[in-house]
Amino acid sequence: MIQENLNIVRATVPSNVTLIAVSKTKPIPDLQEAYDAGQRVFGENKALEMRDKHQELPKDIHWHFIGHLQTNKIKYIAPFVTLIHSIDSASLLEAVNKEAAKKERVIDCLLQFHIAQEETKFGLDLEEAKSLLESESYKNLKNIRICGVMGMATFTDDTNQVRNEFKSLKDIFDFLKENYFKDDAAFKEISMGMSDDYPIAIEEGATMVRVGSKIFGARNYSI
Ligand SMILES: *Cc1c(COP(=O)(O)O)cnc(C)c1O
Repeated sequence: MIQENLNIVRATVPSNVTLIAVSKTKPIPDLQEAYDAGQRVFGENKALEMRDKHQELPKDIHWHFIGHLQTNKIKYIAPFVTLIHSIDSASLLEAVNKEAAKKERVIDCLLQFHIAQEETKFGLDLEEAKSLLESESYKNLKNIRICGVMGMATFTDDTNQVRNEFKSLKDIFDFLKENYFKDDAAFKEISMGMSDDYPIAIEEGATMVRVGSKIFGARNYSI
């Protein structure tokens, strides 16, 4: 089933868009099945769960952290994480930098923006991002690299609203690129779109989509 689902999703994701298989809550054999079908990029939203899966599974997997990250859990993923999508404060970025320095790594990160109408979703607004990027402390962070932006649309059937929220993230990306990362080729990622809305996200400029239930089936408990 997982292999079939993957093939169906892959057929709808252009080759210049990274498909992140969101495997949170799913057991190792499910991830192994996706791996055997050629998937190498996985997304998780709990640090300890991601560490445990990393220990069990082949070492050529790229692990993307997509959930709210607590400062005291960074150390569990710092040795191997490929990309942290969920930087939503200057203090979290500083904490990631500190753990990355201990491991003598540079960890790639995305700034997470609040683009949905729901109150519950984490993320920066543009003013917060500007003050972060203009701060002295940001300029001194040598062990992180900001590679783009991430956002989650409102959970709604209103596809116009979802599209507009994705457009707003693309606008934020363009603004930051122009004003802060013009000569920085690494700043190129727009992570947006999940199982129900990733085709719209791709139309609106996503470079990474995070697809879980459409590949692995419904989760038993919601996160
Ligand atoms: C769970 C999750 C996804 C994937 O959700 P699906 O609807 O199952 O595709 C994507 N992004 C984030 C941040 C998530 O937490």
